[in-house]
Amino acid sequence: MKSIYSATQDELLELTLSLGEKKFRLTQLNEWLFKRFAYSWEDMNNIPAAYRAALAERYYSLKETLEIIEVAKDPATKTKKLLSRLHDGELIETVIIPSKTRNTICISSQAGCACGCVFCASGMNGWTRNLELGEIFGQVILAARELGEKPDNIVFMGVGEPFNNYDNAIGAAKLLNSGPPVGLGIGARKITISTCGIVPGIKRFAEEGFQFELSVSLHAPNNMLRDQIMPINKRWKIDELMATCREYEEKTNRIITFEYTLVDGVNNTRKHADELIARLRGLKCKVNLIPLSPVPEYPGKTPSEQNCEQFGAYLLSHGINTTLRRSKGKSVNGACGQLRRQAAPKE
Ligand code: SAH
Repeated sequence: MKSIYSATQDELLELTLSLGEKKFRLTQLNEWLFKRFAYSWEDMNNIPAAYRAALAERYYSLKETLEIIEVAKDPATKTKKLLSRLHDGELIETVIIPSKTRNTICISSQAGCACGCVFCASGMNGWTRNLELGEIFGQVILAARELGEKPDNIVFMGVGEPFNNYDNAIGAAKLLNSGPPVGLGIGARKITISTCGIVPGIKRFAEEGFQFELSVSLHAPNNMLRDQIMPINKRWKIDELMATCREYEEKTNRIITFEYTLVDGVNNTRKHADELIARLRGLKCKVNLIPLSPVPEYPGKTPSEQNCEQFGAYLLSHGINTTLRRSKGKSVNGACGQLRRQAAPKE
């Protein structure tokens, strides 16, 4: 059994015809899946019961793929966090981040994470399994149901490391990008894949020449510090990572966004800024500064707003295109993986 959103059109067509149904039944099904955002098989009320039953024997509907068990809303920012249960009981989270001009959905690619970045709640209970393509894609349908419309922007910045689940994460991104009628027709440049620095993943991504955006979580400008914050740096050193980012730029002519979470006294001094500037010299890129979102398990502190702004202004004054992300999810435990982690002990 797998999610209906993990099924290929070829396999669905074959099944449809083998059941003695006409091709237009599949058209109807696709409408429920990609346009009307059906939650359960029962919702699909213009499809014959026998056809639905045959599908239900083989596939999970959205409801069984991702059963909503909690919707936490921050009234101030309208950010919503969805906690959902997979068919095997695993919990994952998806965040809806509205702004004046667009709705961004932050999706998870794994149940847990093996990367173990020190301040990230996603990895604190370890890694359980990769999400199927349909479990990744389905999160956007859940969000679309909440919003009442297709979202504008997708970021793979929820729980998990997309390049440790490359085929399913990129497969989901392709399905988001394709269509209509099969897929959501979201522009490739509105879909961002974020990685902690899985070098072979970045290389493959560059080779395949996608138009999706790429973000790289850097968080530290040198090996010693990056080793401490991000264990992945022990596997792929910052020099190799940066060389790979430069190759990516040469191959694709695309701009990478470097994520840099600011932690007071750890990576936010003038010296760190200078090192970061040196690392990025000559590379077409953006830096997105994220003030640490406090998590109980990590003792680091969020720098003052003034310090974050100064750090950003300093990068800007050295010609680095820099943005400072304001936290939007605090009252819904906005840091990656926090909701899932809190729910876990209860399960
Ligand atoms: N595994 C991918 C996807 C996660 S993206 C990656 O590492 O890029 C989420 C971003 O938020 C990453 O840059 C991550 O390091 C950062 N992050 C995680 N926990 C955080 C916290 N408590 N405060 C601020 N940023 C955090």
